[in-house]
Amino acid sequence: MRQSQLFGRTKKEVPRDEESINARFLIRGGFIHKEMAGVYTFLPLGLRTLNKIENIVRDEMNKANAQEVFMPSLHPKANWQKTGRWDSFDVLFRISSQSKSEYALGPTHEEILYPLLTHYIDSYKDLPVALYQIQTKFRDEPRAKSGLLRGREFRMKDLYSFHATSQDRDAYYEVMRKAYENVFQRVGLHAVETKASGGTFSDISLEFQVPNQFGEDTILLCTHCDIAINIEIAKENTCTRCGGSLSRTKAIEVGNIFPLKTKYAQDFHVSFKDKEGKEQLVAAGCYGIGTSRVMGALVEVFHDGRGILWPQAVAPFRVHLMGFPGKEKESEALYVQLQSKGIEVLYDDRQEVAMGEKFADADLLGIPYRLLASEKTLQKNMVEIKKRASQEPEFIPLQRIEEYIH
Ligand code: ATP
Ligand code: MG
Repeated sequence: MRQSQLFGRTKKEVPRDEESINARFLIRGGFIHKEMAGVYTFLPLGLRTLNKIENIVRDEMNKANAQEVFMPSLHPKANWQKTGRWDSFDVLFRISSQSKSEYALGPTHEEILYPLLTHYIDSYKDLPVALYQIQTKFRDEPRAKSGLLRGREFRMKDLYSFHATSQDRDAYYEVMRKAYENVFQRVGLHAVETKASGGTFSDISLEFQVPNQFGEDTILLCTHCDIAINIEIAKENTCTRCGGSLSRTKAIEVGNIFPLKTKYAQDFHVSFKDKEGKEQLVAAGCYGIGTSRVMGALVEVFHDGRGILWPQAVAPFRVHLMGFPGKEKESEALYVQLQSKGIEVLYDDRQEVAMGEKFADADLLGIPYRLLASEKTLQKNMVEIKKRASQEPEFIPLQRIEEYIH
């Protein structure tokens, strides 16, 4: 991609009401644009990163034998009344149509998926079923002040699994737990498994919490074995696994998994005939990841005073090639060469921008490798390469670039 043609550009100023680090860097870098509190447009750069995160999530869900679906955002009021959540779900957006019919804007999808299942599940032979989607969710959050960490419109992967027995469900819960570990490891986040209360519809839940001073949650993190307990439920003084001491830490919840009680199955009569021909309610589990929150969390964790430092797997591009004045021909050739090797390159071909400003923008955007071919380097058939995370550039032979960045 040529930076001269990239839609969205870096900015010196951010909206005055944006306090969070993630929103400030993402807006300044031209990754997202703020529409109103908790609502953002993803610009081309930002969408590349969001898509990478979501594709990692997708890959791990598919590997766990879940199937992707896409459910509506507009939900019939009747379904929400049936579960009682039309009145009790505090952050539900309720809207009405021209003909005065009322609808919910989906904040979560039990109210769609359970009724859907009744059309496809008759016998134990139809189970298990694991369905997920990656979709825009709507929640009327009162405190949408943390950029992508808390949106009123945001992206979530939500997966629901249905089983003939709670033992089967518990076994799948463990599969998901592993899939979650893989997801967070692959996107580059250190997410700590955190025991939490299940709320109304579950006995327990496991949250994946990224320790960070700007997180809204407080967890008690075991200083020894890397698990935690959410402080909202904690009665413990020491780690339940190893007896280690617990330290109070702020954290960002990037995902959670929990077995569901039979409430929704009862509400929507989601039952099946077991081997003996007896009618049974399905056993279910629910598994969420806030994919746009993951993007915000990555910026909260990986930044310095000058900008973002994306982990490789989710960086919008792998290489940021700096066009050098007077060396346009060489830079162009390098651009073509890298692209032909399948390396994602953002090429700063902007003519009117000074080198200093290009470097500052490169630091802000946080692409892992900055590449430069100048008069001096080219004489020796070399290029200058600098990792975003390091201060000092290195000089490597042109033909070694590929090897270096892999
Ligand atoms: P929180 O306690 O932070 O409000 P939650 O318990 O309401 O989260 P769930 O309803 O289980 O979260 O949603 C699943 C995941 O979606 C969360 O783990 C989080 O990563 C993400 N998420 C929830 N609310 C938001 C939001 N307003 N903006 C962005 N991501 C969110
Ligand atoms: Mg919430």
